[in-house]
Amino acid sequence: MGCFHSKVTKNIQNTKIPLYSLHKLPVISVSEVEALFELFKSISGSVIDDGLINKEEFQLALFMNRKKENIFANRIFDLYDAKKKGVIDFGDFVRALTVFHPNASQEVKTDFAFKLYDLDGTGFIERNEVKLMLIELLGESEMKVADEIIEAILDKLVVKKLLKLREEARNLFIPCTNWSLIKGKWLWDQIRVRAAKVTWHRIIWFPAHIPKFSLIAWMATLDRLPTRDRLIRFGLVLDHGCVLCGSGIESRDHLFADCFFAQEVWDAVLVSCGIRLVSLNWDDCLQWLIVNLKGKSLRVRILKLGWTGFLYYIWEERNHRSFRGVSRSADMIVSSIKDAVKIKLYSYSLQEIDDANRQVGINWGLI
Ligand SMILES: [Zn+2]
Repeated sequence: MGCFHSKVTKNIQNTKIPLYSLHKLPVISVSEVEALFELFKSISGSVIDDGLINKEEFQLALFMNRKKENIFANRIFDLYDAKKKGVIDFGDFVRALTVFHPNASQEVKTDFAFKLYDLDGTGFIERNEVKLMLIELLGESEMKVADEIIEAILDKLVVKKLLKLREEARNLFIPCTNWSLIKGKWLWDQIRVRAAKVTWHRIIWFPAHIPKFSLIAWMATLDRLPTRDRLIRFGLVLDHGCVLCGSGIESRDHLFADCFFAQEVWDAVLVSCGIRLVSLNWDDCLQWLIVNLKGKSLRVRILKLGWTGFLYYIWEERNHRSFRGVSRSADMIVSSIKDAVKIKLYSYSLQEIDDANRQVGINWGLI
């Protein structure tokens, strides 16, 4: 691994990176230049006040730590240091940051992003570079992963899929004689796999769904969220405990059904909809929702948003506790779900609703 790392990083140091020609970059205003100069001054003077940014000052600005080495930081420094002097002057700084300006062209932005990942500057992003990025990204999350697992991830998740995609694309386009037909819908119809509709699609993908809620609900339903039981199977983590209740193994079924913290949140959502249920396991709860969330009543609309919101905020809470060390109470999470539902259904017509739905509307602050 050491050899591999040093070989690639050595290549990086030898890479010649051309300057962006000025005519490709957007014109920036005087006040923007002044703001950039203030930023430049504060970074360039953080270790040695010489009007130039050296590697140490650059790392200090990025990580608040002058010793922290990072392959991406090194690469970005190289991209900024276009004249290969080992320091960044104000001209380099402006030219590099202008790439991120809202008026910079897509071409310039894409080019910069590609160069960032094309570590050895060959014009291709190769397997070794993908591997190095993966190691760095896992390292950022303090995950130490065995080399054979990294290789397996690359084989299974990246390289083989890309090769398969290339083969599929080739087969797709060879028989096509009329290139004007190649539009988004045509392409989608060619590559999509048609299968029977799943029974749960209406409780996740419904009109007025909240995309981020539905995405997490969809992944949870497919059991594709990176819960600890799955990460252990990939060899990525060692601790399998649930961070919400402190007992039980963190799996999809535990996190969203068996965990008493999650149950407290879900019960509050149900009670606000005038429903009292005994605690159900994941499969039974999903089945209950499929059977009962039919029609367009206010209660059904709220329950669909409430359930997807429940999954979203429980997952968010798990992530906050795992990675940020902050936690909220079950009541605070219920409030977040209610606020989101309230905003979403703010313009919903409350005319001609029966008493039961009116009470639900009152419970959710819509009336
Ligand atoms: Zn738990």
